[in-house]
Amino acid sequence: MKSAKFCSTGKRFLIISTLTLFSLFQQNTYAKETAEPQPVKDGFSIVVIPDTQHYLMRKKLLYKFNRQMDWIAENKKRYDIQYVLHLGDVTQNNNEAQWEMARKAFKRLNGKTPYAIAVGNHDVGLLGTADNRSTLLNKYFPVKNYKKWKTFGGVFEGEPKRGENCYHTFSVNKTKWLILVLEFGPRDKIFKWANKVVEKHSQYNVVLVTHAYMDQFGVLYKKMTNGLETSPPHRYGIKNDKEGLNDGEDIWKKLVSKHKNIKIVICGHTPPDGLAYVVSKGESGNKVHQMVVNYQHIDDGTLRLLQFDKKGKTVEVHDYSPVTGKINDQKDSRLTFKLD
Ligand SMILES: [Zn+2]
Repeated sequence: MKSAKFCSTGKRFLIISTLTLFSLFQQNTYAKETAEPQPVKDGFSIVVIPDTQHYLMRKKLLYKFNRQMDWIAENKKRYDIQYVLHLGDVTQNNNEAQWEMARKAFKRLNGKTPYAIAVGNHDVGLLGTADNRSTLLNKYFPVKNYKKWKTFGGVFEGEPKRGENCYHTFSVNKTKWLILVLEFGPRDKIFKWANKVVEKHSQYNVVLVTHAYMDQFGVLYKKMTNGLETSPPHRYGIKNDKEGLNDGEDIWKKLVSKHKNIKIVICGHTPPDGLAYVVSKGESGNKVHQMVVNYQHIDDGTLRLLQFDKKGKTVEVHDYSPVTGKINDQKDSRLTFKLD
C-alpha cells in the first residue's frame, strides 16, 4: 500500500475499491460454496491435519495451510475444538525455511487450540529423506514451549528435549482423553515408555497418532516381502537404525492390541492419496478404530473433523476443505462410529 501514497486520489480510490471488491469476492466465494459440517449438539471436536508437505514446498500453495489454521481458529467455539493433530510430513525437505513456514502457520492457533505434531518421513533426515532420525521439529516446536500448556503430558523420558514421542491430555464432560504421538517407524525402546503411559492412564480414552501405520488398502505396514508395498517405513534409510524400526504391524502387536483404552489410531503418509478405515479387535475384545487420511496430491486444503457427542461415545467424521468450502463424501471419508 506504500505506493498508494504517490497515487492520485482517483487511482488510490481505484486500488482501495479493487481490494474491497476482492475481499468481498473472497468472502462471498466462501459463503456461497461453504457446506461446512453441522456441529454436533453439545459435542466437541478434534481436527486432524493430514500431510502438508506440498503447501510448504510450493510457496503458491502456502495459503492453503494458513487457511486450514485460520478456519480452526475461527471455528474453535463452533465445534468446541479441543485438539489439533498433525499426521506428519509437515515439511517436504526438513529444512529451515519450511519449518519456519510451519511455525508461522501453527502460530495462528496460539491461545486458541493446543496441537500435537507427529513427524513423517519427510520431516527427518537429510532434506527429508528419512536416511536418519535428525529433525528440525524441536528447533521450531521446542518441548519447553509445550511445557507451558496444561494439556501437555510429557515426552519420551530418555530424550527430554525431543518431542517426536509425546503425549497430551484433556477432559471434556467428565471424559478423559489422551493423545499419544509416536515417531515415524518408532524405535524399540519407545514401546516401553508408550506402554507405561497408556497403562498409567487407564481411565483415559487414547487416540494414537503416528505418520505411517496402515496403507490405503487398510493393511498394516509391515516389512517389505514382495517389493510392491507402498512406502512402508522399512523402505527408508532409517531401517538401518541400530535402535530399531517398527512398522504398523509391530505397533499393533507391541502396543495397540494390548490396551483396551486405545480407541482410535490415525495415520497419514500412504502414497498416492489414500483413505481407509478399519475396525480391529484388541486382546480384550475391544474395538480399535484405525484410519488413514492423506490428501497430499489433491492438495485442496482438506482436513478431517472428528466430532464427538457429549459423552464422547459417537464419532462423526467429515473431511472438509476450508479452501474450497466442500465436504469430501467418498468412501472412508464420511464416517460415523461408536466407541466401546
Ligand atoms: Zn510420508
